[in-house]
Amino acid sequence: MSFDLIHFVSSAATTQATGKGEFTGAIATAAYLFACACFILALRWLSQPGTARKGNTIGQIGMLAAIVGALLQHHVIHYEWIFVGFAIGAAIGVPMAVFMPMTAVPQRTALSHAFGALAAALVGTGHYYLYKMDVLRPHPVEMGILCLEVLLGALTFTGSLMAFGKLQDLLPTRPMVYRGQILVNLSVLGAALVCSTLLTFNPQWTWLFPILLLLSLAFGVMLILPIGGGDMPTVIALLNGYAGLSACFMGFVLDNRLLIIAGALDGASGLILSIVMCKAMNRSFTNVLFGAFGQVKAGPAAQGEKKVAKPTTPEEAAGLLAAANSVIIIPGYGMAVAQAQHKVRELYDQLTRRGIDVKFAIHPVAGRMPGHMNVLLAEAEIPYDRLLEMEEINSEFPQCDVAMVIGANDVVNPAARHDKSSPIYGMPIIDADKAKTVMAIKRSMNPGFAGIDNELYTLDQTLMLFGDAKAVVAAVAKELGES
Ligand code: NAP
Repeated sequence: MSFDLIHFVSSAATTQATGKGEFTGAIATAAYLFACACFILALRWLSQPGTARKGNTIGQIGMLAAIVGALLQHHVIHYEWIFVGFAIGAAIGVPMAVFMPMTAVPQRTALSHAFGALAAALVGTGHYYLYKMDVLRPHPVEMGILCLEVLLGALTFTGSLMAFGKLQDLLPTRPMVYRGQILVNLSVLGAALVCSTLLTFNPQWTWLFPILLLLSLAFGVMLILPIGGGDMPTVIALLNGYAGLSACFMGFVLDNRLLIIAGALDGASGLILSIVMCKAMNRSFTNVLFGAFGQVKAGPAAQGEKKVAKPTTPEEAAGLLAAANSVIIIPGYGMAVAQAQHKVRELYDQLTRRGIDVKFAIHPVAGRMPGHMNVLLAEAEIPYDRLLEMEEINSEFPQCDVAMVIGANDVVNPAARHDKSSPIYGMPIIDADKAKTVMAIKRSMNPGFAGIDNELYTLDQTLMLFGDAKAVVAAVAKELGES
């Protein structure tokens, strides 16, 4: 969930509602309390596909309450600027929400974080320059928190813009690395922390503030340089965490409790998500923190006899599916790219109409964002109880007649279990290879995100359905409908 709008509105609402306008102040406080409860419920409900829609709705209601609460503080805000901001924000946000395809969700998320973090950094900067150093000196604790707000806000801004550029192919997606990179990164971060410490105790050294800003902006860029495009979602979750923490610090600076709570929730959920993703991808969280991440090296070419994949046709595939009792569908990035989810729904309908038990096996990092597959399948109205997490469904594969892999590759690669030289070694995978028959839909024998061959495609029980996922699934569903 993004709290960008709160960053924006709260930038104007610089004091908690007390003193003047006590009645509206009380309403604003109640609205903030209500909003906090909504955000907590939203996070709870968003964690399950069955309640995710409800979670999204309650999050939006909470956001509305937060905005109303902030706008009620009329003694500290200038409505004309607020509405200019609303108009500009809506002009950018509405087309983004309407026209951006589902496959572009990672870069859209990166942009949201960039804007939210920029708001936090600007609020911190504005607040610093509002201090009259000769009259009103900030307390060291207040100043320290302000510096952290600006540092995290600025690095998240440039880091998120870099992530957007890489995911949108505006920048080279490959990792950009050089000797001593981690040392250079740590030195820049260290220098920014030294500036923060000096400013904390000497806030009147105004010349140091722009240096802190520049170092933080530079660190954001340097953090993302060594990361490959495919690993970006993990880093985006981390940047989400930083943006949340920055908002939380902004809450302390502005004395706004809603921001403290919402920022803490946002920060904690982003950090937890990046840890979960690191585990699911067998990556080290400390490497992610310092930018030593994503430098995936392809393993050595498989030795010995090169096995050949067996292609099949939609007619043959439909015949095998019609004879099955149980089918497990494993969706992956290719299904998202092909936008095949609605055709998958048609296939699901055809199979269940014949009394075949159909389930979906969801890997935590299938696609390019956590929950990517859940969102797409929910869009196609596949019943939630048919979507099973990897740990829940893996034990069912030995009894399963057909495992149908639709545009998934790395998440079903058995090399992760036994090939110590493989970049995905240790990553938990979906046990599709244990099914009696495997059907894999993809356009070629090209590798997936990790850039490695997949022995699943050349197993004795595997048949390949080459072609675009949408077209192939549609053809198989049509054959089933006609037979
Ligand atoms: P994958 O390993 O990237 O493989 C996707 C496959 O889809 C490719 O082999 C490609 O083969 C096929 N494909 C592409 N376009 C297609 C189309 N139009 N029709 C049919 N097939 C198509 O995907 P995955 O198995 O879902 O694994 C996800 C990978 O992303 C993992 O390595 C994971 O670690 C990484 N990752 C995920 C996340 C996350 O949060 N989900 C975050 C960071 C990284 P062809 O080119 O031959 O068609």
